[in-house]
Amino acid sequence: MLVIGGGPAGSTAATLLAEKGHRVTLLEKAHHPRFHIGESLLPANLALLDQLGVRAEVEAIGMQKWGAEFISPWHAHQQSFEFANAWDKTMPSAFQVRRSEFDEILIRNAGRKALKVIEGCRVREVESCLTTQARLFRRNTTTAAARSGAAVSGRRLRARHLSR
Ligand SMILES: Cc1cc2nc3c(=O)[nH]c(=O)nc-3n(C[C@H](O)[C@H](O)[C@H](O)COP(=O)(O)OP(=O)(O)OC[C@H]3O[C@@H](n4cnc5c(N)ncnc54)[C@H](O)[C@@H]3O)c2cc1C
Repeated sequence: MLVIGGGPAGSTAATLLAEKGHRVTLLEKAHHPRFHIGESLLPANLALLDQLGVRAEVEAIGMQKWGAEFISPWHAHQQSFEFANAWDKTMPSAFQVRRSEFDEILIRNAGRKALKVIEGCRVREVESCLTTQARLFRRNTTTAAARSGAAVSGRRLRARHLSR
């Protein structure tokens, strides 16, 4: 299976698929850590962090957060919400994280599982064939094989991934 994009969604999906026994390759165009917007996690994320086995790492880089406050710039009004007052009282807190650190935790965790993670690999084209093969074309990247110590200097690299 091929997962394109090593943000939270891609790293999580790739990890969970690998844990189910699928042969997974994850491709990410950037190199982690990389800047990304979107730092505010919600309480229901924590169960997923537990499932992924990264809760302690996220706790170490995150700021614990017990609720949210919305401030209107138009009505001179503000409203606070405590997570503990939600219908489901089992999830009273969440974390505020720096996304570069959070996303790196997730993709490194993926790399520790039985899957292949390739950074610096921008997918430009995907062709699906009736034979269920997908061909990927990648240009001007040098890092795909860097992890294994091999140099990839070609302008165009073609990789084949079987869907099963
Ligand atoms: C202004 C703003 C504020 C936000 N605030 C919050 C918040 O507070 N809390 C919250 O939960 N969410 C927030 N979000 C939403 C949050 O950022 C996204 O939901 C989240 O990043 C989605 O994760 P993802 O893994 O789907 O995508 P992304 O995090 O965008 O990851 C996609 C990954 O794919 C890689 N990629 C892209 N194209 C290719 C390619 N062709 N080949 C290889 N790799 C590729 C990218 O480099 C990237 O690493 C915010 C979003 C915005 C815009």
